[in-house]
Amino acid sequence: MKDQFGREIEYARISVTDRCNLRCRYCMPECGVKKIPHAEILTLEEVLRVAKIFSRLGIRKIRLTGGEPLLRKNLSTLVRELKNLSGIEQVTLTTNGVLLKNFAPELIAAGLDGVNLSLDTLDEKIFADLTRRRFFDKVLEGFQTLLNENLSVKINCVPLRGVNDGEILRLSALAEKNFIKVRFIELMPIGCAWESGLRGIPMPEIFSKLEKNFGQLVPVREKNSLQGPAKYFQPKNFVGQIGFIDALEHKFCGSCNRIRLTAEGFLKTCLSFDAGLDVKKLLRADVGDDELSEKISDAIYHKPREHVWQLGIRNVELGMNWRQMYQIGG
Ligand code: SAM
Ligand code: SF4
Repeated sequence: MKDQFGREIEYARISVTDRCNLRCRYCMPECGVKKIPHAEILTLEEVLRVAKIFSRLGIRKIRLTGGEPLLRKNLSTLVRELKNLSGIEQVTLTTNGVLLKNFAPELIAAGLDGVNLSLDTLDEKIFADLTRRRFFDKVLEGFQTLLNENLSVKINCVPLRGVNDGEILRLSALAEKNFIKVRFIELMPIGCAWESGLRGIPMPEIFSKLEKNFGQLVPVREKNSLQGPAKYFQPKNFVGQIGFIDALEHKFCGSCNRIRLTAEGFLKTCLSFDAGLDVKKLLRADVGDDELSEKISDAIYHKPREHVWQLGIRNVELGMNWRQMYQIGG
């Protein structure tokens, strides 16, 4: 379906938990977070019911996220059921990779189309400092498991000044001989990222660093509308690609095709605003599918035009977005 600004909405990110086994400095407080009671989290049946309505409204791609989605029990069952929905062309996962080695086989057997692995460093010490956990080896094992499989693999890295600047070349080099995409994502001013004092690194700076080292980055034309906002490039001699997502510098709100469903069942229609719909309330009030679909469709139609991060204002202070990234799912 189209929203009020004519954007075709076809991609849903569904968070299946707000819990996590890492404590990334830009995402979660060290002490962890107040646990939401299980009863407040959508059941897999509820998620599936909403996804079915999404698919009828034109959603073609679903990404499962969190918190750490691999902490959710029976995730592969959900993947299988989502893949069976008519209209859903892709079901993918964003994960920190800690549990990937254990779960990759069953997720792939269930039909998972791709994995985005969040990996900000290839240095064990930096990893431990940034994530406040010592699971680096497990994540690398998970990555290796993916390389042996026939599915789309992307590495997501958030470059942080004074933290992983030195890792950018090493991470990019993973795409030299592997058919993967290594993507650099601009730090967004949400929750802990703002409070931690961490600062991102502008994408043009990363781009020229890569060109200096690997030679010209040749743009890759993307024809698939489900591809998302990343711009991809390929240095000569690379089999994989390098991607850049700079939501702040180059606003891509005009072509935003996504909505988000939080683990607590809130349909969030923009990362930067609280706009959306309390879907859980409707689900648990025994509202029928037609009414639910109408309300969801109305919320999607009113998706906000664009974020206002460029104003340098902390969203929460304006009452625009109170949720942290681990509650939204990235
Ligand atoms: N736990 C999973 C993971 O880390 O892949 C999924 C959830 S996590 C919230 C999804 C993505 O959001 C990760 O790639 C993470 O790096 C990114 N992220 C978290 N906080 C961010 C921020 N403030 N700015 C940009 N990306 C952020
Ligand atoms: Fe957990 Fe992902 Fe947030 Fe890191 S970025 S704390 S792995 S939810």
